[in-house]
Amino acid sequence: MNFQIRPLLLITSIVILSLTQTANASRIGIKMPSEPKPASAPTACKSLDDWNEPTHPRRIYGNTWYVGTCGISVVLIATPNGHVLIDSAPEKASVAVRQNILSLGVKLSDIKTILLTHEHHDHIGGLASMQKATGAKVLGRNNILEVLTSGKNDRRDPQFDELSGFSPIANVHGFDDGSTISIGTTQIQQIPMAGHAPGGSGWTWQECEKKVCKNIVFADSLGSISDNTYLYSAPDSLANALKESSERLAKTPCDILITGHGTASDLLSRLDGEKPLSDEHACANYAKAGALRLEDRLKKEVKK
Ligand SMILES: [Zn+2]
Repeated sequence: MNFQIRPLLLITSIVILSLTQTANASRIGIKMPSEPKPASAPTACKSLDDWNEPTHPRRIYGNTWYVGTCGISVVLIATPNGHVLIDSAPEKASVAVRQNILSLGVKLSDIKTILLTHEHHDHIGGLASMQKATGAKVLGRNNILEVLTSGKNDRRDPQFDELSGFSPIANVHGFDDGSTISIGTTQIQQIPMAGHAPGGSGWTWQECEKKVCKNIVFADSLGSISDNTYLYSAPDSLANALKESSERLAKTPCDILITGHGTASDLLSRLDGEKPLSDEHACANYAKAGALRLEDRLKKEVKK
């Protein structure tokens, strides 16, 4: 489904966060990305599960680029008023991710805002060093500000016993659920997606090529996986949050789905033209699969 007008999502409160530090940025010459030269496109992936294996950057659609590794998505949304990065991949992948960004002709200091999907080391282990290299403002959900600034996950997290933490992140600012990040004419809306982790967010924005506009959705993980002690059937668990996240995602207008682990949506194959990039049912199908896995897990916990 392609359309020209930004959809109104079914989210109760929408707060516009204007990033004032970027308001005059076009005057200081922010460079938009350009296709990397073939020489800067090193590898096909040996393993699509490898979080750290480098792969070349790819245009997703319009001014949105894939700058992640073979196994972990990192997304650059370029705007003339300052660029936005979503996630960072693990610390070990930092150099590869930064090289990808640089190979698009983008200056790291033109990344003004960093967003994240959820607070696990495979997605944000490199965020502290990326923040340092860019000087960007990091926006985090209010309920995980302490986790982000300390680098320590806590027991609310289903995988707490198995998480390795990450370097503490500087320049973190909180936002309310359902916020829209507004940078010039680009609006990036948060989709609250707790469940896999307490601070999960999906993000959606629109990109156009010529006159064809598409809704891009970077959905958070919906995996109900945990360490050995956590129970999704416990009264204070994230089960309801995960269920609501699935419902919310299923209702989100969605043409191009991006997932943090590309294999969950065949992302690199789709970006390489081996499979269709757009599918208006992709988010709904991904949401349904997540909800079914949770139901399955809850049934198994009751049987134990
Ligand atoms: Zn995770």
